Amino acid sequence: MKIGVSTCIFLDTDKNLEKSLNILEKKVKYVELGCDGNLNIMSDKNIEITKSYNLRYTLHCPITDLNISSYREKIRKVSLEFVIDILKCAIDINAKLIVLHPGYSVFKSDYNKSLSSLIKSLKELNKIQEEYGIQITIENMPSYDMFMFRHPEKSIIENLDELKITFDIGHSFLNNNIQNFLELSDLIAHIHIHDNNGEFDEHLCIGKGKINFNDFKKDLKRINAIKMIELQKKSLNDLDICIQNLKELLK
Ligand SMILES: [Zn+2]
Repeated sequence: MKIGVSTCIFLDTDKNLEKSLNILEKKVKYVELGCDGNLNIMSDKNIEITKSYNLRYTLHCPITDLNISSYREKIRKVSLEFVIDILKCAIDINAKLIVLHPGYSVFKSDYNKSLSSLIKSLKELNKIQEEYGIQITIENMPSYDMFMFRHPEKSIIENLDELKITFDIGHSFLNNNIQNFLELSDLIAHIHIHDNNGEFDEHLCIGKGKINFNDFKKDLKRINAIKMIELQKKSLNDLDICIQNLKELLK
C-alpha cells in the first residue's frame, strides 16, 4: 500500500518546507513536493533540505504561470523550457515522477488552437522525458470551463505516447467521469486523492465530501500507483483521519 501526502496541505501557512517534512515523515513514506509559495522546492536551500529525510518524493510543477496549451508559441515554448528546469530538480531529489497540468484556454473560440498546441507539447514532452529519464504525468483538471483535459478525450489520450496520467479523483468527481478515467488504468501512473461535495474543488479529507470511495475500491487497489492525499489548508487532525480512511479503503 503506497500512501503519500502532498505538502500542499501546508501551502500558504506559516510552515516552511523543513517543518512540513518533519511532520509528514512521521506519517507516511511518500511526499509530493511543489514549486509554489512557502514550499517552493526551487527556492533557497529547499532541495538540500529534502535530502535529510527518509522519504520518497514526487514533484508537482508550478500551479501558476505555465501553460503548455498556449497557442502563443513563445509562451508554450517557455513553459516547456521551465518543465526542463523542474525535471533537473526532480533528478536532484530522486523524484519518482513529475505532475504537470495540461494548461488552459479561456475563450471558446481559442479551444481548437489550444488543443493543437497541447498535442504539440505532448509530443515534445515525450522527447524531453526520454532525455531526462523521469516519468512525466499529465493531471486531469477540475470542472472550470477554461481547463484542458477535464475529460479523457480521445485526441489527448491518443497523443500521450509514453507520458502517463496523474488521475485526480476529486477533479474527476466534479466532472462526473471517475469510471471513464479508471477504464484507462494502464495509463495511470499516479493518483491524487481528496474529497468534495460535487460543486467546488474543496480538497477535503476522504469521507467529508460526497465521493463514494467504496465504489472505486477495487480499481484503486488494483492500480499500482502512489495514492497521494492532497488536502488544502486542512488541520492535522483531518490529515490523520484521511490517512486512516485511505488505509481502510486500500486494505
Ligand atoms: Zn495538480
